[in-house]
Amino acid sequence: MEKSIWDANTDLSECQLYYAPRSEAYFPQVQGLVDDVPTMFVGDAAGGTDYRLGLSGSRGLMAGTFIAESLLSLVQSGASWEESLWGAMSSYQTWWNKLVEVEFSQDDSKLTWRPDMYQKYLFEGRSYLEDATQLEV
Ligand SMILES: Cc1cc2nc3c(=O)[nH]c(=O)nc-3n(C[C@H](O)[C@H](O)[C@H](O)COP(=O)(O)OP(=O)(O)OC[C@H]3O[C@@H](n4cnc5c(N)ncnc54)[C@H](O)[C@@H]3O)c2cc1C
Repeated sequence: MEKSIWDANTDLSECQLYYAPRSEAYFPQVQGLVDDVPTMFVGDAAGGTDYRLGLSGSRGLMAGTFIAESLLSLVQSGASWEESLWGAMSSYQTWWNKLVEVEFSQDDSKLTWRPDMYQKYLFEGRSYLEDATQLEV
């Protein structure tokens, strides 16, 4: 027998509906002290645009990669962990500021299809193998 969680007698008066609109939003400042703890915000906690071509998801992953690489490079150059952390936070804010300039508030419904977006989110860091049947990552 097929079971259903709802039927005609189900009381839906307490039902709550949540939804995520397809729109963009961002925070200008994505790092700083939160309750005295050095903090960086990545992914949707920093900001996101419409989801087409995986822009929002990719942007968060790129931010995480950028922060990890900045931190590693500073530690490897001999800076202390604390200095490295503050350095990475500052670099991340600069990275984010530049990104916001070209990716947010563009009033461009075709943002996803812009050549620089294609380059950054689909092609960068990849190359075609010689026989051009596979994408090398
Ligand atoms: C309907 C929809 C469709 C989408 N489609 C696509 C798509 O096709 N391609 C794409 O790239 N992106 C898509 N996105 C966007 C993508 O899902 C997000 O950009 C991505 O998930 C952001 O990842 P995140 O880790 O920053 O945040 P999230 O995935 O939201 O992760 C945040 C996590 O933190 C947890 N959390 C929140 N507050 C607290 C707290 N106080 N304590 C502990 N944990 C907490 C949450 O429960 C959650 O697990 C879509 C989003 C939606 C809503």
